[in-house]
Amino acid sequence: GSTIGIVGGGQLGRMLSMAAARLGYRTIVLEPQENCPAAQTANELLVAPYDDPAALAALASECAVVTYEFENVPVAAASALNEKVQVSPPPRALEAAQDRVTEKTGLNDMGIATARFVQVDSDEDLIAGLAKFDGSGVLKTRRLGYDGKGQRVFRNAVADDARGVYEAMGSVPLILEALVPFEREISVIAARGKDGEVVCYDPAENVHRNGILHISTVPASISDSTAEAARRMASSILEGLDYVGVIGVELFVLADGTVLVNEIAPRVHNSGHWTEAACAISQFEQHIRAVAGLRLGDPRRHSDCVMENLIGDDILRTAELLAEPDLILHLYGKAEARPGRKMGHFTRIVAKKG
Ligand code: ATP
Ligand code: MG
Ligand code: MG
Repeated sequence: GSTIGIVGGGQLGRMLSMAAARLGYRTIVLEPQENCPAAQTANELLVAPYDDPAALAALASECAVVTYEFENVPVAAASALNEKVQVSPPPRALEAAQDRVTEKTGLNDMGIATARFVQVDSDEDLIAGLAKFDGSGVLKTRRLGYDGKGQRVFRNAVADDARGVYEAMGSVPLILEALVPFEREISVIAARGKDGEVVCYDPAENVHRNGILHISTVPASISDSTAEAARRMASSILEGLDYVGVIGVELFVLADGTVLVNEIAPRVHNSGHWTEAACAISQFEQHIRAVAGLRLGDPRRHSDCVMENLIGDDILRTAELLAEPDLILHLYGKAEARPGRKMGHFTRIVAKKG
């Protein structure tokens, strides 16, 4: 089997298919949208819903392994597919990441600290939760949120502030998290191979703009012990989930250096795009190596770097960026630059290490 199936045809699917091609694999991408970023790079595009039985049957019969580029692949579809062909990362990782309550409960069960939280299924639950967290917190939909969508922040809130909120948030299951007074946000991109080997890239320091990742800087301004704690957490998660592939782990760093996990993404991650510019083996190649059962690559970083996302009209900076030396530009081939849409990213090499 030299064909890899990828569920999801966004920019992550595009970059995975490019990495797969470099290692000699064919890729088949399953994606409902015909003009998706991966359409230009996959060998074959199956245009169908993510849980389309015929499309899944085609993936099962033609691929040696099937992976995915986003965490909202229906778990039932992934599990059914896993009966016929290896699905990596395992469907249980999808299950662990799709619901913020399940996710935090699972992490806490592994001994990994997160923000405190309560489930919210009514305004009364929200009032009780806010009282528990001294009037502050971040209210989020349990499922399907990304780029900060479906979130509301409370500070010094009183019961009145909670009235009508459950309905305004769509009457769907919610979670209220304690507001974490973090000093900075970091992420660890890590990988686990079929043989259980784990490798971690250096933590990146992340800054968001309008809820969307804007800049990742490596190295992060954290102590060695904080970096080590973050890596240890990522490794425990990979082992706890019997994971195969690349994972993105987002963390909060408190003023005293303590780390809490914010959330996990069972896939390659935007805050790991810098690896294509500052490491011999990118997160995309690492993921393909892991799911294909190849040995993992060295995650060492040869340079300090800063990755920046091109969101919406930022794409107009292309000409200026092309003129800059030591800048690695990566565009996703999206025709329309809508506000908030990730159009590409670039990484500036700031300094060679050592
Ligand atoms: P992503 O696009 O990374 O999947 P998301 O929509 O799943 O984002 P989160 O990562 O949960 O959202 O939250 C987005 C941002 O909001 C975080 O990166 C952080 O800056 C802030 N945030 C989230 N939860 C908390 C919290 N409990 N306390 C303080 N800040 C928070
Ligand atoms: Mg998220
Ligand atoms: Mg996040």
